[in-house]
Amino acid sequence: MAARLLDGKACARQVQEDLASAVRARREAGGRAPGLAVILVGDNPASSIYVRKKRQTCEAIGYLSTGHDLPANVPQAELLALIETLNADAAVDGILVQLPLPDQIDAQAVINAIHPDKDVDGFHPVNMGRLALKLPGLRPCTPHGIMTLLQRAEIPLAGLHAVIIGQSNIVGRPMALELLNARCTVSICHSRTQDLPAMLRQADLVVAAVGKPRFVQADWIKPGAIVIDVGINRLNDGKLCGDVDFEPVAEKAAWITPVPGGVGPMTVATLLGNTLRAAEQRDSAIGG
Ligand code: NAD
Repeated sequence: MAARLLDGKACARQVQEDLASAVRARREAGGRAPGLAVILVGDNPASSIYVRKKRQTCEAIGYLSTGHDLPANVPQAELLALIETLNADAAVDGILVQLPLPDQIDAQAVINAIHPDKDVDGFHPVNMGRLALKLPGLRPCTPHGIMTLLQRAEIPLAGLHAVIIGQSNIVGRPMALELLNARCTVSICHSRTQDLPAMLRQADLVVAAVGKPRFVQADWIKPGAIVIDVGINRLNDGKLCGDVDFEPVAEKAAWITPVPGGVGPMTVATLLGNTLRAAEQRDSAIGG
């Protein structure tokens, strides 16, 4: 393999160690532990695994994590009432509602109900607007985690042509804004893009967020490109794989993220960073 590995697992561990020492210093100075409320609706197996991981990591670094498990048939009004209670709870700095939600619930209405200062997923329109305007705010976790991974590897980004595949609200769109803020030239591709391989061949940096196993082919990649694989696809044999055809692409790229162990751990680390940041901002707003 010619490419250097962007090791998200190791980088996330470092971020979490930094957060744990910041929390220790905060507690020693008389501050409270950052509090994250995690809401899980139904029993989607993948969501249950993600939520368990987030709660465990919270506890490992000294946060207070509270779980709210609701049945799959919970009425939307009940979920919104819980969010209102958590918005008003002084011990809660961050509220996370694990997506996807069941069909009877309007996910955007739920996101809109979370107070923007407690929106640690960074999906509220106010936080997306702050990102678009390059104002301080809570950033969507997966794109911001990718930026942290690139920054900690000291990869210069200004002037690169970044090509993103995928235009979702949680990955593609905020990723484009993050890279634009880092002074990349940004192209966003999606299912209606004409001649995707030709677009990718121009890319110095590729972010693949498609949800199709091994979709991105080596002959679409410019030699020396940076390749970030956001995809998490479960194969018939139970193994996980990304959206990038890893081995042949790694022969051409300069840097590449593995799946698992690339972007996924950085998403969790960023969620925890957002929660500490939310706690600090609420303290300074209260004057604590
Ligand atoms: P999504 O389904 O909302 O979006 C997929 C995007 O891919 C769409 O914008 C679509 O237009 C585009 N697309 C589909 N087929 C295409 C094609 N043939 N050519 C070009 N574009 C095409 O998905 P999402 O929520 O953005 O997630 C994408 C992937 O990333 C999934 O595998 C998901 O599991 C994974 N994911 C990982 C993390 C993480 O932390 N690692 C976080 C979020 C999502």
